[in-house]
Amino acid sequence: MSDIKRVYLFGGKTAEGDGSMKNLLGGKGANLAEMCKLGMPVPAGFTITTETCAEYYKNNMQFPEGLKEEVDKALAKTEAIMNMRFGDKDNPLLVSCRSGARSSMPGMMETVLNIGLCSETIPGLIKKTQNPRFVYDAYRRLIMMYSDVVMEKAENIEPAEGMGIRVQLDRMLNELKQKKGYKSDTDLTTEDLIQLCEDFKNKIIEVLGKPFPDNAYEQLWGGIGAVFKSWNGKRAIAYRRIEGIPDEWGTAVTVQSMVFGNMGDKSATGVAFSRNPATGEAKFYGEWLINAQGEDVVAGIRTPNPLNEATKNEHNRHLSSLETAMPSVYAELFEIQKKLEQHFHDMQDIEFTIQDGKLWMLQCRVGKRTGLAALNMAMDMLQEGLIDEKTAVMRVAPVQLDELLHPILDPAAEKVANVVAKGLPAGPGGSVGEIVFTAETAVEAAKKGKKVILVREETNPEDVEGMRAADGILTARGGMTSHAALVARGWGKCCIVGCDSLHIDLHSKKMTINGKTYSEGSVFSLNGSKGFVYDTAISTVNASENPRFVEYMKIVDKYRVLGVRTNADTPEDAQNAIDFGAEGIGLFRIEHMFYGKNSEQPLAKLRKMILSKTEQERIIALNELEPYMKNSVKNTMKVMDGKPVTFRLLDPPLHEFVPQAFEKQLELANELGISVDEIKKRGESLHEVNPMMGHRGVRLAITYPEISATQYRAIFEATAELIKDGYNPQPEIMIPVTISVKELDFQKVICDKIHAEVETKTGIKINYLYGTMIEIPRAALLADEMAKTAQFFSFGTNDLTQMTYGFSRDDIGAFMGDYIEKKIIPFDPFQTLDIEAVGKLVDMGVKGGRKTNPKLKIGICGEHGGDPASIEFCHSVGMNYVSCSPFRVPIARLAAAQAAIKFSK
Ligand code: PEP
Ligand code: MG
Repeated sequence: MSDIKRVYLFGGKTAEGDGSMKNLLGGKGANLAEMCKLGMPVPAGFTITTETCAEYYKNNMQFPEGLKEEVDKALAKTEAIMNMRFGDKDNPLLVSCRSGARSSMPGMMETVLNIGLCSETIPGLIKKTQNPRFVYDAYRRLIMMYSDVVMEKAENIEPAEGMGIRVQLDRMLNELKQKKGYKSDTDLTTEDLIQLCEDFKNKIIEVLGKPFPDNAYEQLWGGIGAVFKSWNGKRAIAYRRIEGIPDEWGTAVTVQSMVFGNMGDKSATGVAFSRNPATGEAKFYGEWLINAQGEDVVAGIRTPNPLNEATKNEHNRHLSSLETAMPSVYAELFEIQKKLEQHFHDMQDIEFTIQDGKLWMLQCRVGKRTGLAALNMAMDMLQEGLIDEKTAVMRVAPVQLDELLHPILDPAAEKVANVVAKGLPAGPGGSVGEIVFTAETAVEAAKKGKKVILVREETNPEDVEGMRAADGILTARGGMTSHAALVARGWGKCCIVGCDSLHIDLHSKKMTINGKTYSEGSVFSLNGSKGFVYDTAISTVNASENPRFVEYMKIVDKYRVLGVRTNADTPEDAQNAIDFGAEGIGLFRIEHMFYGKNSEQPLAKLRKMILSKTEQERIIALNELEPYMKNSVKNTMKVMDGKPVTFRLLDPPLHEFVPQAFEKQLELANELGISVDEIKKRGESLHEVNPMMGHRGVRLAITYPEISATQYRAIFEATAELIKDGYNPQPEIMIPVTISVKELDFQKVICDKIHAEVETKTGIKINYLYGTMIEIPRAALLADEMAKTAQFFSFGTNDLTQMTYGFSRDDIGAFMGDYIEKKIIPFDPFQTLDIEAVGKLVDMGVKGGRKTNPKLKIGICGEHGGDPASIEFCHSVGMNYVSCSPFRVPIARLAAAQAAIKFSK
């Protein structure tokens, strides 16, 4: 026998593991152990480690040697604590097999309940409980779950739509109810259930070709194996991809004594949060169902009752709360959740069961929350003294800020719109989009850049990819704590569940609300904070002026070391970025003045310049272009008064600017005094096979120095004019796509000459910095050389990634998906910096540059400057700032603060 410990016992107010052992015991196993140690009522059991799951996979899906003996021992101890025996004919213990990874993956893996019911144990349990109906109800649930999870899913059987064993058994159940005229499952009699179980077992043989196991141990091991296998189930894999959870982690299996919430009217089951997970309000919050078992609440099958007064809403107000129905149990639960929150210093998501009036805790974990709730909780807990400032900063995930800055429905427009349906407000914010009825359609539509609202009958974790792709989610059934609501909330999606006036006909792709029919593609608006549904498009507004947010960001900035700038090229974007807290512009792409609003005239001049044949022609065109350029530069510098603005020299793919339309060609031909044919010819000569590596950036300025000279003049003259008007402009000039310090030296001569000319002409002293982008591997490798002339570096990680990989930025669409899906690379390196290789070049570049000039200012302006993981890396290599698009500025500020806190530990 090996000496690896694979099984950890818990129960009877003690445990072998504890809350710190999440990596080994999974979140669920570790916290059950911790709750036992806190003296809370937890049904005894044991956890098989995540490492065992990894071993199982390495071992060709075989249980490792020695596991059986360890499980037998732990089971014997569990039996002793619970005073029952597994598989015993007089006093049988039933167990559940539950999954649990390091970080929670709600509803993505499998669970089997009521394991241990078989012909040997059923009579004993009936005798003991005096409740045959309960026993057969538990048995039919076991058969349904087991055949689905263990006999079908774990065996990789992929039935046709609607032919899965679970669906078939459900259909039988419904047919029986219909035949007998029953409304609810609780109307089924013992005899009905006995017959149903027999029919179920026959159906299983017919569909799956083997019998449902009539042996407690066979069921147990089947359950353990199926939980391991569910780690590689479709849903779990999809969820891991989205959340970036590594495949190697594996899941733990917790085998736990069953307690029953379905034993009658003194029994119940529920899910609760120590604070409201949608808003963050510091009130105990949750849902419960009387006489129900485990998954009934989260599966969204029945509309659950409110836990207490604070949980009541328009949909459940008429249902009784636990607070009034079972006051003493509620009081005990209330104390437990308070203690758990104090112990873990964070909001807890708990599952509980009440068996015959006795409370049992089945799970606790840090609860998922919306961005708004995360912010409110962090600030509240800080004020309550439950956490310190650094913890508060770490409590909001940078991407959650995105959600806070997300739009809400315009309150004024909403006021005059008609609410067509109401549901439960499961995920706040507003969403406007076309309705679709399947996850696949949602994914397809999102790929095309369409905003859609995924409308489903009930909340179903199988829809995870569609939920991710959709802008908003709307379901007909389900409660606030249903899995879909949890997942949506975790992702900050606008989500409304339990909208029961909604009827979906998947077949015809239509839905009806109060008699009115809507087809797929109809535009709807959702108010996820109130649960209101509209059948029109309502305009949206920004929610960023939240004073709590402003207060929080002040604390965040206290801990940040990295500066945060923005990539902006217009006064509007610059102002936006300042409002979000930008400290400067890290990348002003001069060529952007030729796109979009008011670009018509400067674009005509640029085209003229591009298609000029002689230097003289070019200089005329450039002189005409210069005033536009000066204005563009000046307007943005004015907005950024006192803050640095890094102007990057023209770096456009020239062919993009060659006129294609005949009228434009004719216009240009007239202006240059040449024929349209000649224009076409000149345009064709600019064609490049690979423009991404063509005549761009500094190369253009080496061939045509007059092009850069015009830009230097525009920048310096704009600066001088602003100084004259009392402003404090801080221009920085940045040379793109460099490969050698000689390019920098060559340009510096021109730049200095123009600088001197403008100073002489205006009599104004102009300070500026001269630097380069580091975006080609050669420049990173020779950074010490580059720093001899450059006063700052800015890493252009878009190009640096392109050139390190040899993947053209323009052409990755054809294969990036395959590379990620086939696990050749773990993520898209154009979104998150590839620390392994591109990062090596960045690190080398920083070190090289600082070897020559220890004070060298270094930043990043590629897209990675707004990506939290990449920002952490930028902090770790000692950059001075990151620069990102205006909307990502708060995200970058938070990510920078979190990196600083993390590295200071
Ligand atoms: C870069 O290459 O990272 C960069 C910021 O420049 P551009 O995307 O304009 O090439
Ligand atoms: Mg670039």
